[in-house]
Amino acid sequence: MTNPIVPLMPPSTMNAALDEELRGLEAAGLKRALRQVQQRRAGTVLVHGERLVDFASNDYLGLASDPRVARAAQAVLQAEGTGAAAARLISGNYPIHETLEHTLARLKGCAYTLLFPSGYMVNVGAIPALVGRGDVIYSDALNHASLIDGCRLSRATVRVFPHNDLEALAAMLAAERSAFRRALIVVEGVFSMDGDTCPLDRLVPLARRHQAWTYVDDAHGTGVLGATGAGSVEHFGVTGEVDVVVGTLGKALGTAGAYVGGSQELVELLVSRARSFIFTTGSPPALAAATLEALRIADVEPWRREAVRARGRRLRERLQAAGFAIAGPPDGHIVPVLVGDPVRTMAIVADLRRRGFLVGGVRPPTVPVGTSRLRISLSAVHPMEMVDALAATLVATLRKP
Ligand SMILES: *Cc1c(COP(=O)(O)O)cnc(C)c1O
Repeated sequence: MTNPIVPLMPPSTMNAALDEELRGLEAAGLKRALRQVQQRRAGTVLVHGERLVDFASNDYLGLASDPRVARAAQAVLQAEGTGAAAARLISGNYPIHETLEHTLARLKGCAYTLLFPSGYMVNVGAIPALVGRGDVIYSDALNHASLIDGCRLSRATVRVFPHNDLEALAAMLAAERSAFRRALIVVEGVFSMDGDTCPLDRLVPLARRHQAWTYVDDAHGTGVLGATGAGSVEHFGVTGEVDVVVGTLGKALGTAGAYVGGSQELVELLVSRARSFIFTTGSPPALAAATLEALRIADVEPWRREAVRARGRRLRERLQAAGFAIAGPPDGHIVPVLVGDPVRTMAIVADLRRRGFLVGGVRPPTVPVGTSRLRISLSAVHPMEMVDALAATLVATLRKP
């Protein structure tokens, strides 16, 4: 017996097409590939058997490998198992999820929060739940990809305003806000690739004057900025005044997941409307236990917030003293070093790695074309001598032609 279909079937054209595309990416210096981190310890990672000082991660408070956080997860892991087993609206909502939501609401000074499995999922779920056709979004030009995707999915009209240019935003609002039903202004608290902050103290009143709502993604401010680590909202004195505050748990808090905070009405609406909340499995209860412990430590060990800012200030001072212009606030914990060309950027990253430092190389489409850069992130647990050593090595590397 022969199968008549098999000999007639032409070969798939997929691999040849993808191979061509991959070559194009490679030639442009834009091909990305995974590397394995074999082990994380406070401030360092083991990569291919080599111990590197980790200036590439977002472990700002040094909590990602804290044994107390791991132990908190372990206890709940043993009692409840690994997974939530269902979407939270079905049978995957545990008391510890709600305890974490109340704790985050207290920290952020908002009425309610709602947990999501990741920050990406918050943004692609919450923005389309709030605005749609006939509405307008004003989006900062340097917003994170997840915000851009959330804006696109919403089908609202999207107007991009120049980065942090509130005068331009005011002009855009005055010119055409009235042509739309709802208006949502979407920004980051601390911009992830530039490390600068959005002046929320000026943004909130501007939004109110034009009956626009504010949406602040504080993925990089949460846990670091503000007297209690509540983030950009606390730093700028607008606690309770921003309509939608987003924070992630995988950065300063060292676990995983994210939340959106605001009014009771906001959270009730998202529970019924945010598709990336409704149609996904609840995050593991043990993860909520880990995050609660990370929040406790962040609260009782404020030295971590001070330490990460002190390291940001030190690195900036060293680079600026050597003649390099660095964007962002003087004590910003994300230090962008502009290089421009993606190939040269990745060559510098490789050079630093040979000298024992892991730093991020950021290329388009993560950042605009021509602005490829090193992205250096500081952690409270980096020894100050390591920051100095990185600065010295970096200055030497950047000065090479
Ligand atoms: C990292 C990041 C996210 C995504 O958060 P995850 O929890 O990692 O999915 C969203 N927004 C901004 C600004 C980020 O930097």
